[in-house]
Amino acid sequence: MEKELIADSTSEILNDMLEKIRLTSAMTMGYPVSRGFDYSELLPFLQYPLNNVGDPFIPSTYTVGSRELEKEVVAFFSKLFRAEEDNWWGYVTNGGSEGNLYGLYLARELYPKAIVYYSEATHYSVQKNLHLLNMPNIAIRSQDSGEIDYADLEKTISINRQVPVIIMANIGTTMTEARDDVAKMKAIFKGLAIQHHYIHADGALSGSYAAFIEPRPAFDFADGADSIAISGHKFLGSPIPCGLVIAKKSHRDRIARSIDYIGSLDTTISGSRNGHTPLFLWYMIRKLGVEGLMKKTRACLDVAEYATTALKRIEPLTWRNPNTLTINIPKPEVALVKKWQLASEHNWAHIICMPGMQKAQIDAFVKDLKQSKIRSAHLTD
Ligand SMILES: *Cc1c(COP(=O)(O)O)cnc(C)c1O
Repeated sequence: MEKELIADSTSEILNDMLEKIRLTSAMTMGYPVSRGFDYSELLPFLQYPLNNVGDPFIPSTYTVGSRELEKEVVAFFSKLFRAEEDNWWGYVTNGGSEGNLYGLYLARELYPKAIVYYSEATHYSVQKNLHLLNMPNIAIRSQDSGEIDYADLEKTISINRQVPVIIMANIGTTMTEARDDVAKMKAIFKGLAIQHHYIHADGALSGSYAAFIEPRPAFDFADGADSIAISGHKFLGSPIPCGLVIAKKSHRDRIARSIDYIGSLDTTISGSRNGHTPLFLWYMIRKLGVEGLMKKTRACLDVAEYATTALKRIEPLTWRNPNTLTINIPKPEVALVKKWQLASEHNWAHIICMPGMQKAQIDAFVKDLKQSKIRSAHLTD
């Protein structure tokens, strides 16, 4: 009897929570998460303790995992990011922050005396990573768009010419989705005759679709990046946060250490690694391929265009960086920010048109915003 009661309340709690998630998920507009994915074919894998412990490319003595598919995911994005043949490596991370930490870690092992440069629009996790790694660093001004100020970057590097340069480039800043230009950074190195340099591309937000944007932003290995991190749960879509880091294999070889206990190389930040998230990423690229991802990108850009036009009609200050999914508006009243889970900073807020964002949702938001503006106009009359 008592057991039954417990069973009942367990399913009740879960049902309540599921309903709450269903409702709040339908409202979220400001945070970069894809919705509407269907991974039900992968459900049977939840019965097993998958663990990709160690390096994905070196088999471990623990074999319950998804290494084979993880390698395919790394290979797919290495090719997409135009890595040099036979000089790429990577693994599925727990998210963008871990990928960025990894890039900085590799860079520091190569150039222990370097200074790290990053724009003031850089994601908050980077400061923490620099602190963890104890790396000297300098913040560079951003332009209004959120893109790094190249003149300030050049000037600052030129003052410290004797020291190797590490740059954290943003491929889509968190607030305005601005993309720093890796080719322009390379040109600065050339102009100042900087020989020791490393560029890590933080593509957590838009790295996963940057290759499908026209004109193609300068962000990948062919443009001069040494490592690139992307998120898996943002544009690609995953029920569990995850990401991917890709680096030149020659860089990773410098830090590889063989560990007898796991029978693999200790090249990753965490020891035990999620074996399910590589499955989600593999499944998504398998279903979509380059063609499908390109289509998905175009569809999202269309929705972003639609939202921009609709928002501009009621809020003339609305703006968007070219070819991005992020639309910036002056921060509306708190009730709206909460209701629609808008991301905001200082006086600005944004919505972001990730896969799964419906035009109907945008219409409802625009209507809300319009009413809110009418109300506040009355108040100031
Ligand atoms: C989301 C994001 C990150 C962090 O990624 P997590 O997956 O949350 O760890 C880093 N940089 C940028 C630009 C981001 O948008």
